[in-house]
Amino acid sequence: MLVYHLPGTFETREAHLDLLWEAGATGLEERAGLIRAYFDGQTDLPADISDGEWRDEADQDWQAEFKANLRPVQAGRVTIVPPWLRAEVPAGQVPLIIEPGMAFGTGHHATTRMAVEALSALDLAGQTVLDVGTGSGVLAIAAALLDARYALGVDIDPVTIPIATENAGQNGVPEGRAAFMVGTLGDDLPGDVVTDGVFDVLVANLYAELHDLLVGAYVGHLRAGGPLILTGILVSKLPLVQDALDREGFTDVQVRTDGDWALVTARSA
Ligand code: SAM
Repeated sequence: MLVYHLPGTFETREAHLDLLWEAGATGLEERAGLIRAYFDGQTDLPADISDGEWRDEADQDWQAEFKANLRPVQAGRVTIVPPWLRAEVPAGQVPLIIEPGMAFGTGHHATTRMAVEALSALDLAGQTVLDVGTGSGVLAIAAALLDARYALGVDIDPVTIPIATENAGQNGVPEGRAAFMVGTLGDDLPGDVVTDGVFDVLVANLYAELHDLLVGAYVGHLRAGGPLILTGILVSKLPLVQDALDREGFTDVQVRTDGDWALVTARSA
């Protein structure tokens, strides 16, 4: 089986998937930030996607190898694990079980880990939390497990909603404590019944340009003084996000980084 391995970033993902289809891929998979494109034979690829690697995986059980290499991820008070590593969660840690699958958010990406850490550093008891770009639901579920009264996850990709809902169930999050919907900010949020569309905490793992576009909407959906947690930001694009937060009057802006990735926390005015 001939497989082309292409490291991806969230920002380039859509364009790269399109180019791989156009180049004749017979199947595409995404795992842990890597696009795997199946081809019948080696072919010339456009420059934008030419920095990957061709591999003949005839004898490789990728699925088994991928699962065997997954480790628990500790993020503050929470340890994120796939179901088969549940027993490895240290005593005193909150277990967060995520089945690695089609939606982004296994905990193995630095941005997800930093966002769970930032949630874990807050006292969420009795709070409402909005998770924009929920993917696997990992951040909304983390919030619910950290005693949030209600967490709403929204995502523009409909594939994510049943996955996030199932992950919440697998973590024993009671219905009514976490909800997931297709959409983005500006849509009617069904959380309105619980929150009037205004949340105590807002977390979003998207990308810098999108934070820049959405920052006005963050203000509208976050109570005055509420914590904002933004990640998915490449360190090189931090100024874009910092300028946007300044523009909207956010205070107490703090940055932490992990490799190329940054997380920014702030408080709404
Ligand atoms: N929250 C998960 C985590 O932290 O691991 C997943 C984050 S993943 C990087 C970003 C998610 O945002 C994807 O599931 C994508 O479909 C979604 N997304 C992209 N643009 C969006 C938008 N404008 N509004 C809502 N969700 C969006």
